[in-house]
Amino acid sequence: CGGDDYIPKPVVAVELRARIRARLERSRLLRERGDRDALTGLYLRRRFSESLGSCLSHCRRSGEQLALVLLDLDRFKSINDTYGHLMGDRVLAALGRLLGRRFRGEDLRGRWGGEEFMLAFPGLDGETARSVVTRALEELKLVPFEHEDGRSFHVSFSGGVAVWPQDGDSADELVRCADQRLYQAKAAGRSRVVCASEEKT
Ligand code: GH3
Ligand code: MG
Ligand code: MG
Repeated sequence: CGGDDYIPKPVVAVELRARIRARLERSRLLRERGDRDALTGLYLRRRFSESLGSCLSHCRRSGEQLALVLLDLDRFKSINDTYGHLMGDRVLAALGRLLGRRFRGEDLRGRWGGEEFMLAFPGLDGETARSVVTRALEELKLVPFEHEDGRSFHVSFSGGVAVWPQDGDSADELVRCADQRLYQAKAAGRSRVVCASEEKT
């Protein structure tokens, strides 16, 4: 009937608590593993979206702003084509690690899909989010990637920033706005992060 344990009477409170704790910990670990992308260690899109929804609800109650940043690796297809898919995967994993250890505990980081990543910064305005993410970009640009055959290369990303509440009320509206600004960053030459104040430059 779905039971996976039984407890004989008389029930010993200490033992019952220990069993429950172990079950909870196991299901937490399983859920956590299912929520994360194996390559980058970051939240998968579904989990990121759930957490973003909770963050937005919190911001609506507190009146705090929230900055959402969409990142996309630059010319990533040509990295795969030139150095191989495995090397491309190493780049994705390195960016995942970098994003994972940067920023504050309450900031969200996720792999949005392919070579795109999404970040959310509760409490930050667009300019501050832009400068925080630009620092991560500068750090990434310094990392040398080395192919076995001796060739080495560097990578960069472009990003678009959208801010709640001024750029949209729902997560979908914010994502759309961040995506438009990411497109502008690509069009303006890549390797940069665009937010509202510099949209026209
Ligand atoms: P742009 O600067 O305009 O973003 O150019 P781009 O080459 O990065 O963009 P495009 O969308 O043409 O290519 C994205 C590439 O990302 C194509 C796809 O094969 C690669 N990619 C997506 N997911 C993965 C992955 O998990 N591993 C590897 N190695 N490549 C991936
Ligand atoms: Mg892309
Ligand atoms: Mg790309």
